[in-house]
Amino acid sequence: MRLSRYFLPVLKENPSEAQIVSHRLMLRAGMIKQASAGIYAWLPLGFKVLRKLENIVHEEQVRAGHIPMLMPTLQSADLWRESGRYDGYGEEMLRMQDRHGRDMLYSPTAEEMFTDVFRANVNSYKDLPLTLYQIQWKFRDEIRPRFGVMRGREFLMKDGYNFDLSKEDALHAYNRHLVSYLRTYERMGLQAIPMRADSGPIGGDYTHEFLVLADTGESEVFYDSEITDLTFGDRDIDFDSVEQCQAVLEEFTSRYARTDETHDEALFAEVPEDRRRTARGIEVGQIFYFGTQYSDAMGAAVQGPDGKPVSIHMGSHGIGVSRLLGAIIEASHDENGIIWPEGVTPFHVGIVNLKQGDEEADSACEALYDSFTAAGLDPLYDDRKERAGGKFATMDLIGLPWRITVGPRGLKNGVVELTSRRTGESEELPPEQAVEKII
Ligand code: ATP
Ligand code: MG
Ligand code: MG
Ligand code: MG
Repeated sequence: MRLSRYFLPVLKENPSEAQIVSHRLMLRAGMIKQASAGIYAWLPLGFKVLRKLENIVHEEQVRAGHIPMLMPTLQSADLWRESGRYDGYGEEMLRMQDRHGRDMLYSPTAEEMFTDVFRANVNSYKDLPLTLYQIQWKFRDEIRPRFGVMRGREFLMKDGYNFDLSKEDALHAYNRHLVSYLRTYERMGLQAIPMRADSGPIGGDYTHEFLVLADTGESEVFYDSEITDLTFGDRDIDFDSVEQCQAVLEEFTSRYARTDETHDEALFAEVPEDRRRTARGIEVGQIFYFGTQYSDAMGAAVQGPDGKPVSIHMGSHGIGVSRLLGAIIEASHDENGIIWPEGVTPFHVGIVNLKQGDEEADSACEALYDSFTAAGLDPLYDDRKERAGGKFATMDLIGLPWRITVGPRGLKNGVVELTSRRTGESEELPPEQAVEKII
């Protein structure tokens, strides 16, 4: 992409409405624009990163054997009456009527819809196990939308639903989700710690929230510091293997890690004192096993091996895709702007032409641009007639991992300058070598 032809409306001033750094930087970098409270327009740069996050989520869900599909955002209230949640859900649900006076709602989550699709189409245990998911916009009329996309009213969520014949199978699905989520967050350059969460009136141990540690997080968290040493890494895992998934769950959840909702002082006191940590965290996902709650209410059963009907064991599993953008920036920035992790960066490299219009500089930039494009990378070429300082400030603000600076003086010596956004270190080297380092 050439910056002269792109749409990147960066702001010079700090927007006064933003209280936290990720919100401020997303506005300044021209990624989002508020449309109304908690509802955002996704400008090209923000949209590009959002799509990257979505892709990672898709890839990891498909790898785990889960099947993508798409539900409507507007749903009939009838299904929610059937499950018994329509009246109880409260003011977070945006309700409306169509022209015929039928009650509708904008989906805040989609257990009912998925259960309905399941019961209409699956009759036999032979079609199980099954996990369906979507990445779709949700609406919750949050009482206090704030922090930009972190607590929006309209937000993008991946929500997945497992359908299993027994509790045992459903717990394997639960573990599979935990593993796939660990991989997902790590690919985004994030450490998200599974913490035991509150399962509400259903009870049981079967819900974990994933939290990214950050001072601006809305949850208070308590954990054993050993947990931050764990990484999933690039280990191979067979998602069908009950033992392997169970082992990962045990590895990542055996140490003390809880949010304020489930925190237990007495248990926490058993953690050696020098490892006890209290901090704040951003909830970027949650997994849940809830048994036959919805299948009983909505009549989702299949014929079991012995011919008798069996109520389906279900769970639901969510990732806050749009919130993750904010969480990544909270975790990775400096005073000059965003520092994108390689896996989610909107462009791989920025090319800064110090003297636009200079024949040699222009053609060196074009050649670099072509090399990156040919290698399948996505470069952003600042080809505007602007001062170098302004170009550098924009590149720092939008946080691409690499910057290549090209000017007539360097080219006389056959070199360009390669700068790492994360370390700030620069080196001079021939253009071909700069390309080699990045691809
Ligand atoms: P919170 O505690 O932050 O209100 P939640 O527990 O109500 O979140 P879930 O129902 O668990 O949310 O939804 C799954 C994921 O969707 C959450 O882990 C979070 O990452 C994301 N999410 C929930 N509400 C919002 C929101 N208002 N804006 C952006 N993302 C959200
Ligand atoms: Mg909530
Ligand atoms: Mg929550
Ligand atoms: Mg939650």
